Order: sequence, then C-alpha cells, then structure tokens
Amino acid sequence: MSRSVPPQVAGTRRLLSRVRDLMAGEGSAEQRLDAIVRIIAAEMVSEVCSLYVMRAGEVLELFATQGLKAEAIHLTRLRVGEGLVGAIAAEGAPLALADAQSHPNFAYRPETGEEIYHSLMGVPIRRGGRVLGVLVVQNRTQRNYSDEERETLETVSMVLAELVAGGELVDPKELLQADGNATLPLRITGIRLNGGLAIGEAVFHRPRIVVKKLVAEDVDAEIQRLEKAVEAMRDGLDQMFKASDLRGRGELGDVLETYRMLAGDAGWVSRIAATIRKAGLTAEGAVERVQTQMRDRMRDVADPYLRERLSDLEDVANRLMQHITGEMSAALRGDLPQQFVLIARDLGPADLLEYDRSRMTGVVLEAGSPVSHVAIIARALDLPMVGRLEGGARGIEPGDPVVIDADNSQVFVRAGEDVLAAFRGHLVQREERRAAYAALKDKPAVSADGVEVSLNVNAGLLVDVGQLDAAGADGVGLYRTEIPFMARPRLPGVSDQADLYRRIMDVAGGKPVVFRTLDVGGDKILPYWKGQKEENPAMGWRSIRIGLDRPGLMRQQLRALLQAAAGRHLTIMFPMISEVAEFDAARAILDIEIRRSRKLQHELPAEIEVGAMLEVPSLAFQLDAMLERVDFLSIGSNDLLQFFFAVDRGNARMSDRYDTLSPAALAFLRSIVEKCDSAGVRCTLCGEMGGSPIEAMALIGIGFRSLSMSPPSIGPVKAMVRSLPVARTEAFLRPLLGAPDHSLREQLRAFAADHGVIV
Ligand code: PEP
Ligand code: MG
Repeated sequence: MSRSVPPQVAGTRRLLSRVRDLMAGEGSAEQRLDAIVRIIAAEMVSEVCSLYVMRAGEVLELFATQGLKAEAIHLTRLRVGEGLVGAIAAEGAPLALADAQSHPNFAYRPETGEEIYHSLMGVPIRRGGRVLGVLVVQNRTQRNYSDEERETLETVSMVLAELVAGGELVDPKELLQADGNATLPLRITGIRLNGGLAIGEAVFHRPRIVVKKLVAEDVDAEIQRLEKAVEAMRDGLDQMFKASDLRGRGELGDVLETYRMLAGDAGWVSRIAATIRKAGLTAEGAVERVQTQMRDRMRDVADPYLRERLSDLEDVANRLMQHITGEMSAALRGDLPQQFVLIARDLGPADLLEYDRSRMTGVVLEAGSPVSHVAIIARALDLPMVGRLEGGARGIEPGDPVVIDADNSQVFVRAGEDVLAAFRGHLVQREERRAAYAALKDKPAVSADGVEVSLNVNAGLLVDVGQLDAAGADGVGLYRTEIPFMARPRLPGVSDQADLYRRIMDVAGGKPVVFRTLDVGGDKILPYWKGQKEENPAMGWRSIRIGLDRPGLMRQQLRALLQAAAGRHLTIMFPMISEVAEFDAARAILDIEIRRSRKLQHELPAEIEVGAMLEVPSLAFQLDAMLERVDFLSIGSNDLLQFFFAVDRGNARMSDRYDTLSPAALAFLRSIVEKCDSAGVRCTLCGEMGGSPIEAMALIGIGFRSLSMSPPSIGPVKAMVRSLPVARTEAFLRPLLGAPDHSLREQLRAFAADHGVIV
C-alpha cells in the first residue's frame, strides 16, 4: 500500500472494503443490504441511505433504507423518470442537491417520512451500461455534497451492482428484461453504415466482461497488473497493424494511427492508475470506473465526431480489460463458423481487422455512425453493415441465422426458411449483377439513342479514387477534401495536404479530379476543432462560410492544391455558395495564392478550372451573373433538396416525407441546367440522387449530361444509361414537370418498364 494517503482517499477505501466484507458476509441478501446502507450512512455522515432496485416494468422499488421509515421498504415504488430517484435512473447520471424539495422533479412519498430531509445525493447503480438501481443519501441540513463525496458514492454503487445483479434480490430474469420469446423471428431496423446484403450465423464479438473483483487487496500489485496489460495491448496492436494489409493505405492508415494514439495516451492510463490508488480498486475495476466517468462527461456531446472518438476509446478500454482479465474476443477464439455475421455493441477499427474476412459476411452494431472509423473500414472492405439497432441486439442469440439487408437498414433474425431462401436468391442475383457491371466497365456510357453521359465518382478516401478504373468511371466528380481531415488526429499542414492531393491525382491516373475545398460544419465535424453549439448546424457556420471567415485555413488548402498540381490540370470547386459575392471572395483568395506562387517562382498548374457548388436555392436566382464567372457548376442535391423542401437531410423521420422525384424539384433542377446550357457552362450533379438509376434517368431526362456518384453506383447507372432512349424520356417528362403531384416516381417506373430501361 502507498504510504501517505489523504483522508478522503483513506475514507473511500475503508468504506469500500467494509462494503465488500459485508457483501461476502453471513445472512440473507436483504440482511446484508440493511447492514450496508447503515455503514454507508455512517461513513458519509448522512442521516439517510437508501437503495432502490429496478424491477420489471421500469419501476424502482425501495429495498433497503437507513433513516427512512422501515414500513416503506418494498412499498415505495417510483417509475423511471418519476421523482428524483426516477430522474437519476432515467438519466443514468448522479444528482446532488442541497435543497432537494424545491427541485421540480421532487415527488413526496408520505410513507417514507422523508419530508424532514432537505439535501439529497443519488447515483445510479450500473452494470454493463444498464441501470440496475439507485443509491441515495439524504441529510436534514441543506448540505452541499462535494465532488469527492459524489465520487465515493459512485464507486460504492459500482461495488453494489454486483450484489444487485447477483440474482439474490430480484430474479435475474427480471433484470434481463428479455423481449418476449427469443425463438421467434425478428426484424430489427437500424441505420445503414455500409450497403449490401449478407447472410450468416450470429457471432458475438465479445462476451461482456463482468468485473468480478473490484476492490484491491494490494494497490501496488494492481498498478503492476495495469502496466503489464497496457504494454501487452500496445505490443499486440503494433503487431496487428504491421500484419494488416490496410496499413499505409492513405487515410485508412491514419484511422488506425489515431486508434494507436488513443491506446498510447499516457493521460488516460495515468487516470486509471490514479483511480486504483484513490479508490483502492483493482485494475479492471479502475478501467470500468474511468470509462463510466468518460461516458458521463460525454453524455451531452452532440458532436458526432467527438462521440466517435469516445467509442474508439471504449474499444481501447475493452481491449485493455481483455488483457487484464485474460478474456478474449471471438476473433481470437478460433472457432468461427464458415459464414458469420458479427454482432457487437460497437467496434473499433482494429477489432474488425482481427476477423477472417473470408468468413465474415457482415456486421451488426448496436451503436455506430456513418462517420465512425469502423464504418470507413467496412466501406473499404465492402462489408455490409447496419448500426444503431432500435432496441439493441437483445433479441439476437449466438448461432442465430441472421440476414443483414443493409440497403434497407434492416436485420432479420431467425428468419423462416422461405425468407432465407429469398435472400439467398437475392445474393446470387447481386453477384450476377456485379459480374455484369464489371463487364460493362470498359463500355462507354452512351444511351440507346446515342447520347453520351459522363459518369464520375464521389470520393473521400484514396481507396475510392483507386476504384475509378474498376468502376469504369470518367473521373472524380467530387473529391471531399474534408474526409481525410476528419480521419486525422490533427489539422494537416500544407505539405501533408499537398502530398495527399498529389497521391490522389497519381492514383486517378490522368483522369480529371474535382477537388472541393473544405466543407466542414453541419454534420461533418473535425475532432480537433471545437465549434460553437448551434441550433441549426446545417444552416449555420459551415462550409465556405468557415472558409471565408478563416481565410488562413483556406489559403493553406489552396496552396497545397496548387503545389500538388504543378504542371498538371487542377480543378477546384467551392462548396455551398449562396450568392455571387461569396464566390468572388473565394476566387479572390485563390488569386492571392496564385500570385504568391508566381512570385516565389513555384511551378503552377498547367491549367486551373474553378467551379461552384449550387447547394442553396438562393444562388439559382443569381445564375446569370454566376455563370459568367465559373468554368462549371456542380449541384449538391443532398443539401439543395434539404433547403428546397426544408427537411433536415440527417433526420430519418423526414427522409421519405418528400420525394426527390417530385415535379417541383425536377422543374427547379431543369431551370438550372437549362440556364447552364444556354450559357455554355458545364453542369453536373454530385448528390446521392445521381447514384440511383431511376433518379439518374429522370435527371438525364431533364437535361443533365454529367453525374457524379459513389463508386458502386456507376455499374447500375451505366447499365441504365445504355438502355435509355433519351429523346423519348425528355418528351415524356416535359409535360409532367408542371403537375401538382407529390412524385413522378411511379410514372417513371412505368416508362422504364415500357421502354426496357434497366432501373
Ligand atoms: C451535396 O450536398 O449534395 C453534396 C454533394 O455535398 P455533401 O453531401 O458532401 O454535403
Ligand atoms: Mg453539400
């Protein structure tokens, strides 16, 4: 044991070891609980200490109390969310109030006799992220509980979770709250993290590690256990990254590097060590404690990218826990089925790489987000992935047959043989189609009546650019420069950026690449850049607005682009231009950089083309002036339609409220493309809309001759173009654009069927 121990630390350790002794002691669970609440009340110098346990139906029942009336035990029940105790359970967060009765959530229960107690501090009793109960202390005086006191109560509640979850107080089945009969087929919806279809047997990534021993016998020995585990974890990661063939592949390498940095974060490890010393916990107990604190701190962080970093850290913490306890993930157990679907709460990028790709068909995550590192890797590996399952993965059992229909954001569990057979049929069809698209790759995108259409890819990672040839695309119609910025732990400097842009042009092998300047803000957040919280981030400080307000950042990027394209063709576009003046301001910044390069006698690009993205409807009303200034216009339909219909593009509830094939939207788009045609300015569309065959058919029908889409969409869209009679489609659509209909989708489908268009 360490020598000079501060009184608070000594108090916590003493309380913990007494609670632990009582838990392991004689008597029924209820008798031990009574003794425990007495001890806690005495040590915390509180008149009251009560323990509420969560029962079926989300009800918190008073199980033990020191200080409240004994007759209230098993009588006082509060729903989750009801009263202060219910609020603590609902939020899963501690509460400390000097004047509890004036809190709006205070619910007075006469049977407890609690009216004489003014202050209250309560903490949730949690295990594995679930709230099992609430532990509360109360005082007569208006006491201001300190942070240390709250910490102590939280640490005690962690130890108590073992008793509550042990099954002696409440039937463990009740705590499980299983959803009905686990053998029934189940369909669970989530969000698509990477499209595709997969069938396989459910394999759980990690049996939940339940920390059995929380209180340390010997603090120094626990520190040593921690240090050894940290070292073993780092060595293991180093070896895995060395062996992984994703290493060095552009941004994927960066993603893994970020992960390794988290694992090596000295601050995090020393926090765990300090927790061992301070609370007298075991190494695994301290890892769990620090993770809970971390989760609490991040609860209110809305920023999706920061939340992702937290989940990477969770992953590193789990990995460390494995090294401490010796419990291994499924990947290392080596008994995996021939075809399996991996199920996990969340995964870190390194976790995914541990699995044998030839057997893993897809991944289901309870958490996850499209910008997460693991989703980036899934895309690179072409692994179907669904995340954020509604209600979690509770209904899935190991070994269950699982179908992931990622395109439709759903997962089928224990589907009947007929359903499985249908999905198997789809899978075969997909393979056949994939082969057919691959055969089209060298064929031109020319319509049945001889109209040429330029098909390009949207890219954000080097691997996307690498797919240009395989997909049979003409070039990169949109390179999202913010993606590599997002995958890095810090803002890259000019030479780093120039290296990356050079590599992109090299990989594109002479095909044109349209570099879009930094488009951050909205839902695209840089981990190292703290913006202010905004009510409506999509309409806030984002994109070119940031670029113009922070010209230093934009100049660095433009300088890097000019350097990278020395002697070559450079195409730049500015995102989210709302008015001509904004484009002029951005262009002026580019001109400053061009002059600077000239002055320094740096080699300039052989040619520079500059365009703007039309993503805000206002620009459509200044188009004449705009078209005099640009070499091309690119329509960002994702943003443009969000502002056109006033629907948040990230809000799943609104996602099919309006149809992209509405006559209003199509008429608006046609007015833009017509103006571009008369001005002789190239016009392209690079939103998601262009990647769906039927939408692409409509776009060509209103005059578009250039589209940019994600690489897997090129094949299906090219097949559609080659079967399309363009002149007839134009004639068909013209009279429909003024229609009052909600959508033209059905008419377009019927047209395609009648004319043999492959949509
Ligand atoms: C768009 O808004 O359509 C677009 C292509 O840009 P992003 O999706 O990157 O906002
Ligand atoms: Mg956009």
